[in-house]
Amino acid sequence: MNNFSKLGLSAGVVEVLDQMGFENPTPVQQQAIPMLLENNPTDFIGLAQTGTGKTAAFGLPLIELIDVDNRATQALIMAPTRELGQQTAAQLKEFAKNNKKLNVEVVYGGANIVNQIKALKKPTQIIVATPGRLLDLIKRKAVSLTNVRYVVLDEADEMLNMGFKEDIDEILSHTLEDRVTWLFSATMPKEIRRIIKKYMDAPLEVAINTEQKSNTDITHQYVVTKGANKVPALRRFMDLQPEMRAILFCRTKRETQQIADDLSNLGYGVEALHGDLSQAQRDAVMKRFKTRAMQLLVATDVAARGIDVNDLTHVMHHQLPDQLESYTHRSGRTGRAGKKGISLAFINPREGRRITELEKRIKITFEKIEVPTVEELKASRINNWANLILNTEVDEQANDILYSLHGKFAHLSENDLLKRLITTQLDHLLIQDGNEGDLNELQGGNRRGDSDGGSRRDRRDRGDRRSSSGSAGKNRYFINIGTIDGMTIPDFVHYISDTAGIKRNDVGDISMQKTSTFFDVDTDGGSGFEDKFKGLEIEGRSIRVNRDDEGPKRSSRGNSGGGSGYSGGARKRSGGGRGPKRDYRGARGGSSRGGGRRR
Ligand code: AMP
Repeated sequence: MNNFSKLGLSAGVVEVLDQMGFENPTPVQQQAIPMLLENNPTDFIGLAQTGTGKTAAFGLPLIELIDVDNRATQALIMAPTRELGQQTAAQLKEFAKNNKKLNVEVVYGGANIVNQIKALKKPTQIIVATPGRLLDLIKRKAVSLTNVRYVVLDEADEMLNMGFKEDIDEILSHTLEDRVTWLFSATMPKEIRRIIKKYMDAPLEVAINTEQKSNTDITHQYVVTKGANKVPALRRFMDLQPEMRAILFCRTKRETQQIADDLSNLGYGVEALHGDLSQAQRDAVMKRFKTRAMQLLVATDVAARGIDVNDLTHVMHHQLPDQLESYTHRSGRTGRAGKKGISLAFINPREGRRITELEKRIKITFEKIEVPTVEELKASRINNWANLILNTEVDEQANDILYSLHGKFAHLSENDLLKRLITTQLDHLLIQDGNEGDLNELQGGNRRGDSDGGSRRDRRDRGDRRSSSGSAGKNRYFINIGTIDGMTIPDFVHYISDTAGIKRNDVGDISMQKTSTFFDVDTDGGSGFEDKFKGLEIEGRSIRVNRDDEGPKRSSRGNSGGGSGYSGGARKRSGGGRGPKRDYRGARGGSSRGGGRRR
């Protein structure tokens, strides 16, 4: 028997759930569904994060409570992002697929409003919407909320974080006094309490204990390493666990892009997701991530909101979020739907206090782990290679080749032959570029052990770096244009010099990545440089130019970035033996100059 049938749902809905593989209600569903059905109408608070099954917790009761013979809009679900809205609407449509009279429509910003207005002309009992677009539609009289009896505020804390407070207030002012409000939130900051007080009356409440969930599904870990070693450390984890499928959270868009580009240049299956990408680009990235065309998604918190990917093995934090509450949102991307996951934070030696704060604030326990050593990596590579040989089925063609060699190796002993074969694989099996140091640091202070390896690396790092103001007499800049825009290096020089009105020779040391480029500009020609790009667009994206005042550490050295790469194994494992994907110096793929135009 399907355990959803005990919650008061109709047989038709239980049948659909059965087909969807929903057999056992999650804790929030177990508690919320009967509560909402039995106490209708009631205000309701669900303290639950994404991944707990909250959509079905409110979606199933809604479907049962809607009067399908009434064609008016009776329920409104507000979501912070287009992605979450789409997922919610898709789930609701699936739940209601046997009920042809029930219509669910989703509307969000960034898409054609005329099409949405058209779609809303047919009877739509449930509207899922992002607040900004909904307000637009209300103002255009494409939506009437006068019959709405249920308002769901989904991920309410995220909506407030994103600045939708006024929009929500205004939208609610268009609804009936006696409508009920169901609010879902992962956290309960002051502003949420204020909304509850203002809009809700004696709400019933279900709280899914974060502590319980974290303990069972998510293991929280951290490593201590210096800022510049975070990405090399990350690579060691990726190399050691080729099956890893993860999101790495970063704080800034620029850093997000840079890390993704650096890793991608080293042959890892990695892409960036951030707000400087167009919606079409973001959709394409998400599609590739979902279809496993890449292993790691590097994302900002904002861009990652609403992402619904169920089988992540890891969530990683390049830095801990500024707002500790966001940690819950980030880590909740793994350990979903009953699966286990790891949330791994890379912290520098001074951030230990923040781990303690997090433990107290969200009642979780962190485990300190070590960045894998080079020895572990070597052992793992060798072991993987040996297993590959053991598990390889002999191909017919191998027989032919062996035959054609006419006993060429007959004079070699078995051992000799193996050693020679291994020697041909050294590139893959060993770590070649001197990045052999211990990347672990002591919390609150010094490097742990291996000071020799460390200082060697430090020296190399210093040699590799430049001052943040670029080379002598130059400023270094970042621009959100790259090969994706069809630009080559000569195109880029023309474009920059023409737009800024400077000499071609004033633009130098160009490091072009997929969606961003770092370059130097001669300080003489560069006064007011950034302003020359204000209001320009390329491929529908606003062009942004910033001084690269974070400067050296990641300064887009491509393959040589930070001097920390080791060759072979990473490429082989994550990319099936691919070498670096792209060398910008040879990039000639583009057609147009991609010239920006003023808005
Ligand atoms: P949500 O927290 O609503 O975003 O749900 C997280 C994921 O879990 C979604 O992909 C749902 O399809 C899935 N899910 C929700 N409830 C169940 C359930 N009772 N059994 C199996 N999968 C579920």
